[in-house]
Amino acid sequence: MLGLSPKNNMKKIIMANWKMQLTIKESLVLASKFFKKINSTKNEAVICPDYSALAFVGPIIKKTKISLGAQDSAAFSKGAYSGEVSPANLKALGVKYVIVGHSERREHLHENSEIINSKIKAALENKLIPVVCVGEKLAERAAGETKNYLLQELRRALKGVKIKTANDLLVAYEPVWAISTNKNAKAMSPQEANDVQSFIKSQVKKILKKEVAVLYGGSSNGSNSADFLSQKNIDGLLVGGASLKADEFVSMVN
Ligand code: PEP
Repeated sequence: MLGLSPKNNMKKIIMANWKMQLTIKESLVLASKFFKKINSTKNEAVICPDYSALAFVGPIIKKTKISLGAQDSAAFSKGAYSGEVSPANLKALGVKYVIVGHSERREHLHENSEIINSKIKAALENKLIPVVCVGEKLAERAAGETKNYLLQELRRALKGVKIKTANDLLVAYEPVWAISTNKNAKAMSPQEANDVQSFIKSQVKKILKKEVAVLYGGSSNGSNSADFLSQKNIDGLLVGGASLKADEFVSMVN
């Protein structure tokens, strides 16, 4: 289309993170609603069920345009790590994307930057696309430290990481205070998110020598998604709460 660079024409990625909210049966019902109703050719929808549902949801979306994602994966490719989930097995199940370093894992599961860094490397070794989550908390925002904090998180998470193409890794910018399960959460304005994501893109480009896509996450829903997606530096959305409602998520994708 006239005036649009190839980048502007790229598909936006709308990723549903179902967290640990659904039973296996509920996951299957929701996944079926998604594939019956999602018909977008301009956006890519991704479902990230919990591990126990993943192996069931995978086959029912296999022949659709919806991609499969995991909410986490191990920091190692193989070995004696009881309870961990093998990135190689995720790949074998048809998983394309893996969320790494979500703020809930950083907070409740005490995941630090070193672990996150190893998880990114293990995902890449197994040809999975890591979706690296970064985001400031309210304290850093109030202190005017958002960009410094994000830069530190990015440098630590991406230390020694090498990617062959810009499509091998995604970043998800998720201001922690904007995630809907947090007290008084509300979405960041699309304009501010665009500005922060422009900063993230330029910094990641310095670190990885590639311009990767950056998703926004934090109280996005059917009412605000179009505003977010119209921003130049917002290449998609990572969606929590709104992804549990079929019609709302479908409207965000279609
Ligand atoms: C999230 O937890 O990654 C998230 C974006 O959640 P919500 O959309 O519910 O704010």
